[in-house]
Amino acid sequence: MSKKMKLHLIESVRCKSCGLCVEACPKQTLAIGSDLNPQGYAYVIQVAPEKCIKCNVCRIVCPDVAIGVIEAN
Ligand code: SF4
Ligand code: SF4
Repeated sequence: MSKKMKLHLIESVRCKSCGLCVEACPKQTLAIGSDLNPQGYAYVIQVAPEKCIKCNVCRIVCPDVAIGVIEAN
């Protein structure tokens, strides 16, 4: 039986650049980038993905369901 992988995803089109996830991430892996999404917001990016522990805190705090961890085969 294959073990499910945890993938960290960012839905950049939903991000409103509030910065809550950047503040909440315990590993400081997130930052507001310089590129804009179609709504004109500078969206969040993972600047140190190797440090991400996939704790899902970013998903819990995001008011726009724009970021988080999913399980995939
Ligand atoms: S899953 Fe956890 S460690 Fe990874 S970016 Fe989100 S808050 Fe940070
Ligand atoms: S909490 Fe959500 S909306 Fe706010 S910066 Fe992070 S991903 Fe974007």
